[in-house]
Amino acid sequence: MSKNVLVIGGAGYIGSHTCKKLQQLGYTPIVYDNLVHGHKSSVKWGPIEVGDLLDFDRLSEVFGKYKPISIIHFAAYAYVGESVLDPSKYYRNNVVGSLNLLDAMRVNKIKSLIFSSSCATYGIPTRVPITEDAPQIPINPYGTTKLTVEKMINDFSHAYDLDCVVLRYFNAAGADLDGEIGENHLPETHVIPLILQTALKKREHFYIFGNDYDTPDGTCIRDYVHVEDLAQAHISSLKYLEGGGSSTQYNIGNGSGYSVRELVTEAERVTQEEISLVIAERRVGDPAILISDSQKIKNELGWQPEYSDINTILETSWRWQKGLI
Ligand code: UDP
Repeated sequence: MSKNVLVIGGAGYIGSHTCKKLQQLGYTPIVYDNLVHGHKSSVKWGPIEVGDLLDFDRLSEVFGKYKPISIIHFAAYAYVGESVLDPSKYYRNNVVGSLNLLDAMRVNKIKSLIFSSSCATYGIPTRVPITEDAPQIPINPYGTTKLTVEKMINDFSHAYDLDCVVLRYFNAAGADLDGEIGENHLPETHVIPLILQTALKKREHFYIFGNDYDTPDGTCIRDYVHVEDLAQAHISSLKYLEGGGSSTQYNIGNGSGYSVRELVTEAERVTQEEISLVIAERRVGDPAILISDSQKIKNELGWQPEYSDINTILETSWRWQKGLI
């Protein structure tokens, strides 16, 4: 019998890629999503139950219907800038919603969870690459909501016998290798889609947020990890929990950094288009450099990034962006 996995936020970018992989490996992904940012068209590998993280009764009903062996929790608001302007929205959905989920899991005796956290929990790192034991001092409400949920999970794990893998993503990028799904945020704020949409002339200019950072070319450096590799990290975590693994945390990045300027150069090569640049002000809440040390998950779960070279990231994103209307 196929094993049900409840994927909360499974109609979103990383969630939908994870659902595809789950189905390919013989699991049944049950998507639970309120479709505020998720797309129904991205739910192709199992049923969808429309519902909100804040709705305890609906969550319990879905737990009862499908009896999932594990829950993968992607659902969150994730715009850093918006979290500064409207923290209430972020605390309610990301923190109160996750507390609601944890309580619903406790009451319904579901003991296995994989949670999407973020490198935003580290704030401005004192050392790069960043290891999991680095200080977590977020510099924006979004990062604080993720860290708060991590702390709740830690306390629930001890008190209620919950096993949870926390995955701290660096910069998710790229699109499905078969071109079936990809990044489609409304509004789009992420660097690679914006660069590529400028190459497509859907946008007049690409704005570089600050060129006076303490980096070799003055622009911010990030660790871009392909969404396929991110999805695989969830599968590895699921198998670890199925095998009786106990609660832990892993960074998920590819371990090398690209500056914004380097991304533009690489994108011009891949697209063969000139990208019109404007140097703009720094964006509030952006650390200069974020690079992951992902040795822990490599050592413990055998995870390896396979598609996170910049060429594959840009090629898959470019194919996806060209297909978007
Ligand atoms: N960035 C930029 N121009 C944009 C969007 C992003 O220069 O229009 C920069 C941003 O300052 C950061 C990097 O690109 O240094 C990645 O930003 P993104 O929003 O994609 O991801 P985040 O790091 O916020 O998760």
